[in-house]
Amino acid sequence: MAMLQWKRLIGQERIKEVFSSVFLNNTIGHAYLLCGDAGTGTFAAALEFSMALLCGHEAARPCYSCGNCRRVRSYSHPDFHVVMPLALQKEHKSTDGKITEAGWEEFAARVRERIEDPYLMPEFSTLPTIPVDWIREITHSVRRGAVEKGKNIVILDGIDVMQQESANTMLKTLEEPPPDTLLLLCTDRPHAVLPTIVSRCQLLRFAALPPDTIRAELVSRCSLSPDDARLDAVVHVGSLGRAQSLLQHVDTSALRDALEFWRLIIGEDRLALFNKIDELSASADYGRHENLFMQLMYGIRNAFFTKIDGTENYIIGDSSLSGTLTQVTTPHAADLLAHYCETAIGRIRARANIALVLNNFALSVMEFYNEQKQQGR
Ligand SMILES: [Zn+2]
Repeated sequence: MAMLQWKRLIGQERIKEVFSSVFLNNTIGHAYLLCGDAGTGTFAAALEFSMALLCGHEAARPCYSCGNCRRVRSYSHPDFHVVMPLALQKEHKSTDGKITEAGWEEFAARVRERIEDPYLMPEFSTLPTIPVDWIREITHSVRRGAVEKGKNIVILDGIDVMQQESANTMLKTLEEPPPDTLLLLCTDRPHAVLPTIVSRCQLLRFAALPPDTIRAELVSRCSLSPDDARLDAVVHVGSLGRAQSLLQHVDTSALRDALEFWRLIIGEDRLALFNKIDELSASADYGRHENLFMQLMYGIRNAFFTKIDGTENYIIGDSSLSGTLTQVTTPHAADLLAHYCETAIGRIRARANIALVLNNFALSVMEFYNEQKQQGR
């Protein structure tokens, strides 16, 4: 009898159990909503489960080598569809707003990249969207039903960024899916998914990954030594994708930028601060901007734990920043500053103007700092 084997989904034992059990008992639902922070494995789980269902191997599935597995991997199986947010460029759309040939090729290329590494954190230079044309195309394939014997599977990643028109098209499919359909919807913001969509799905919550799991995985993926100091700065983020992306930026700038930005905000030299904001906002690398605020968040957390505990036992990541964040003295301060970082990250993800995001953050922190000074803290 066929069994599921998981080669690429890291950790998430409970999710593996759920999928293995519905597979063995032949009780697979028609729609699942996979919720978890980006890079925790929602896409990896959806991909591996899809492959297992389409795999032609009799024993352990997916086998990764049969014709069906190979077609899923090269994104050429007629009953396997993926939709995900993309930042479309001008050449991907014609003047009447339709997706061009180049646009469709771009979709397929990005999907293949994602299948190649399901933990890859996509980086966008402009606001990513899910084009309604793509949803229509998929909806059409779903209504037509499976071309080959077996399931007709759609992975819809980032369902929370779907616009109203796309969501409505999708809803109809969710209401009356043909019997061979399996929809695997992924999101890192379940609260932003339409309730009408959530109510039609079985919910699967993905846990944060433990540091040891992330460390082991990064060691093998990036051929690092297990005690490489750079790992300490990134293994605690709960997400393999985020850790991997941070690792790429760790040498370059995120931590250094965060440190300098903070020092300038609480310092006296306004001109230097505005020059720094200019310098930072010249980059269109949204991943880098997000990482700067991520580093500040860890710094705030570390500074707070150091303050209440009196030791550095609870430091995660790099401690150089928490020494600078001496303003984090109360739970209220930690809460407020973390909230400013979260707001900034939210705006960066919505592709707001970076200079404005940095300015707003700096002004909020200055205001907080001045109040603290007046209260003599
Ligand atoms: Zn196979």
